[in-house]
Amino acid sequence: MRISDVLRDKGDLVVTVAPDLTVQDLLTTLAEHRIGAAVVSTGAGSVDGIVSERDIVRALAARGAAVLTEPVAGIATSHVRTVRPDADVADVERLMTEHRFRHVPVVVNDRLAGIVSIGDVVKKRITELEVETSALSGYITGELS
Ligand code: AMP
Repeated sequence: MRISDVLRDKGDLVVTVAPDLTVQDLLTTLAEHRIGAAVVSTGAGSVDGIVSERDIVRALAARGAAVLTEPVAGIATSHVRTVRPDADVADVERLMTEHRFRHVPVVVNDRLAGIVSIGDVVKKRITELEVETSALSGYITGELS
């Protein structure tokens, strides 16, 4: 199963924010879209960073409420790990587990083509495993009968 299969189900919408947006406005964006992370982009689908609720929590704990009026660029992660649509879902699951992040932007020619969360990936993997289990069980039952 490929990441393109995940995107076919969930769509290719990616919520992006400009680097100079304030952290307060980022909170509003995350709440409005009911998401946990946004891609930082200067436009035209470029990936210039990623910022998640964890970055906000850490910054608030370290520097207090003053962070809310600061630009998103100050708390975002600039080295973003991305995947291509033909990436294997199991490999992306491993990537997320290994590096302890829950979001991965999907890019084609350095431009955003979607985003997957750990929830999207786990959902697809469960479906994949259910199909495999059912096929194996049918095979065994067929063999024995
Ligand atoms: P998350 O688990 O996605 O909320 O993110 C945990 C931490 O990893 C935060 O500091 C994020 O900015 C960072 N992060 C999230 N996704 C990625 C990614 N695809 N590449 C690099 N860092 C990421």
